[in-house]
This record gives sequence, C-alpha cells and structure tokens, in this order.
Amino acid sequence: MSSVHEPADLTAEEMEQWKGYLGLGERDGEVLKEAGEVLKAREDWIIDSLYEHLLKFPQTRRFFSEKDKVERLKVLQKHHFRTLFSGSYGAEFFRRGVRVGRTHNRIGLRPRLYIGAYNRYLEIIFQVLAEEVGPQRSLELFPSIQKVMFLDMSLAIRSYILEGQRELEESRDALLNVMDDLEEEKKKLAKAYDELRSLDETKSNIIANVSHELRTPITIATGGIELAMDEEDGEARNQLLTMARRALAKQNRIVGNLIQMAQSQREGVDLNREEINIAEVARMAVAEMGSSAREKGIQIELDLRDVQVLADFDKTKEVFLNLLDNAVKFTDRGGRIKVATEIRMEMAEVTVEDTGVGIPREFHEKIFDRLYQVDASTTRQFGGTGMGLAVAKEIVEAHGGKIWVESEQGMGSRFTFTLPLAGKG
Ligand code: ADP
Repeated sequence: MSSVHEPADLTAEEMEQWKGYLGLGERDGEVLKEAGEVLKAREDWIIDSLYEHLLKFPQTRRFFSEKDKVERLKVLQKHHFRTLFSGSYGAEFFRRGVRVGRTHNRIGLRPRLYIGAYNRYLEIIFQVLAEEVGPQRSLELFPSIQKVMFLDMSLAIRSYILEGQRELEESRDALLNVMDDLEEEKKKLAKAYDELRSLDETKSNIIANVSHELRTPITIATGGIELAMDEEDGEARNQLLTMARRALAKQNRIVGNLIQMAQSQREGVDLNREEINIAEVARMAVAEMGSSAREKGIQIELDLRDVQVLADFDKTKEVFLNLLDNAVKFTDRGGRIKVATEIRMEMAEVTVEDTGVGIPREFHEKIFDRLYQVDASTTRQFGGTGMGLAVAKEIVEAHGGKIWVESEQGMGSRFTFTLPLAGKG
C-alpha cells in the first residue's frame, strides 16, 4: 500500500505549522470542547440534517442509495463529529482527516460536493449553537469551530490531491510500460521483417546455388566420360572415369540431401534402424570421399573403434558424407582430416575434425539451420547449398543423438555427433 495518504509524511513540525496558518491554538481547543458539550445533545439531529442536505442531489444520492449504508455512514459521521469537538488536534486527528477524505475519494464524492456539505455543516452547527447558548455566545465560539472545520476540510482535500498524484503516477508508469512494450514489439517486427527478407534472399540464393551445384557435376561427368571414350591410355582413361564418378557421387549427395530435406519437412525423418558398426560406416564414407581428398592432397586419418549402434545405415552414412564433404571443401590443399569413433557417456561419439578455415563462434548454431551458409554471397569462394548440416542434424536428432561444432576462425573445425548404442533400450 502506498503511504502517501498517511500523514506520516508530515512531520510534527509541519502539522504545527499547518495549525499555525489557521491560527488554531490551545485556546481554541478549550472553546471547541465547550461547544462540543453543547452540541452533543443535538448530535443526532445535526447529522440527520446534514444527510438531508446531502440526499437532495442526485449526484450525492447515488452514493447513499442503500439505507444500511446511510446508517453506517451516520455512525461514522457521529464519531467524526466528536473528534472535531474533542479539543485535541494532534497526529491522530490529522491521520483521521486524511482517512475520511480518502474514503470519500474512493466512493467518488467529488470535492465540490464535499465542500458544499462542509458549508451546510457549519450552518447547522451555528443554528444549533444559537438556539442553545444564544447568538452572542455562539458568535464567540464560532471562529474556533470554523478553524477546525477548515483544518478538517483541508486534510480531506489533501488526500484528494495525493490520490490524484498517485493516479497520475500510476498512469504515467502504465504509459511508460506500454511504450516499452511498443518499443519491444517494434524491435520484434523489425527483426521478423529482416528475417523474412533474408529468408527471401536465401531462397533465391538457394535456387541459384542448387541449380549451379547440380549442373557442375553433370558438366564434369559428361566431359570426363567423353574424353575417356577417346582416350587410348588406360591409366589416363581411368583417371578421367574416376573424376566423372566422383562428380556423379557429389551430384548424388546433393539430390539425396534435397530429397531428405523435402521428406523430413513433410513427414519427419523415416528411419530404418538396425544394429550396425559405426566404424564400418565411417570406413565406407571415407572410401567414397577418399579420391576428392587425395586430389586436394588432404590426408584422412582414422582412429576408429568398433562400436555397435542402433541406427539407419544409409542415413548415418549420409551424415558422414556431409561432414566429410565439408571438411574436404573447407580445408586447404595439404591439410588434414581426422575421423574418430568412440564410446562416451553411454553413447557412440563420432568426430570429424579438419585443419580448414574454421567457423567464427557466432555461426556455430546457425550453420545447422536449413540453407544457412556463413558466406552465402554470389562471390563466395566455396560452393554448396547449405543443406548438408541441416540434414545431418535432422538425421542425428531423429536417432536421439546430438550434433555440434567446436571451431574458431582459421583454426580448423571439429564436428561431433552422437548415436545411441545398440542394446540400450
Ligand atoms: P554447404 O556446405 O553446402 O554450404 P552445410 O549445411 O553443409 O552447407 O554447411 C553450412 C555452412 O557451414 C557452410 O556453408 C560453411 O559456411 C559452414 N561449414 C560447414 N562445415 C564446415 C567446415 N568443416 N569448415 C568450415 N566451415 C564449415
């Protein structure tokens, strides 16, 4: 609860000052006590008359529509009346005045109605006093009564002001919140827009990339085969045919990735799980990629432990091929690739490590997104479609494994993926 309504924020000194402005002193206390004694006998009548006045106006009538409520308020009013004429006007009096004002404020009694009621109150009191002690004495008593009434009224008005301030502060806070939210929304919108636009760009890039990537192997393979047909020398012919086969294998991988991506988008990854030796899959994949690596003078080192996993053979091989394809592609002539399999934390763990260009940290997660490439520009140095790692991730995760990269720019990359061991549920 806010404490602004309590006169706790008024020091004793301020309260004295307040009374000082009104000229309300000890002498007034005694006078008021005397007036109180006189008025006590007519208390009920005074309060009834006040309510009669209040109930004259439709605006006030609606606050006192229930009979019960009026009776309750009359009791409170009587109490208040006695406090006004108690003769002591210390902290408790201040606190009470503010509280009454707060109640009126809460039920929506506007200050102008409230002040009207005070005025009527004074009239009634003066009338009663005149009847009880005569006009002369009542004129003598009246200034003190007026002072305490003004004090009481100003306390109530103060609580209206404080409440108004609080509401203003609250609406200002609410407004600031809304502005923050709006700012946040604006940022999100801008981000979504950027993403959409870059997706659009990626899409057109990918169409260009895929068509390019598909055409290149065909050109190489066709050229290689045509030349081989005219080649007399057996060794040279073999080389040409190997080149053609490699190009077709590359094409096969791209088509495989395209199919895998389209399929998993439609119906998820369909696995044909069986017990297989992960080292064997690694060897086959390396054999398939071996000639590309050799051609670039890249050495492939194997550190394979036989580990039985429960996995889809073809799809697991696809993961290897995609990782090896990247390792060869992003490693300079003369570099090294190491493939290792082992058991760690009750999973088969495979690493494909290269001494290539490396990947800046901020891309370590993004590269597993579909069609994402660190360099997707048309002037890029390396080919590719941005499908390989996304497909690898889909396959690995469908098996219940994980895939991640550790790398730094210029320091090579190490890709690791895990697969469940066979016989583990
Ligand atoms: P692609 O290789 O066809 O572009 P991938 O999904 O296989 O698509 O890889 C996405 C991106 O991740 C690559 O474009 C490249 O920027 C980065 N990347 C993947 N593997 C490596 C690696 N071994 N070394 C450096 N960068 C890599």
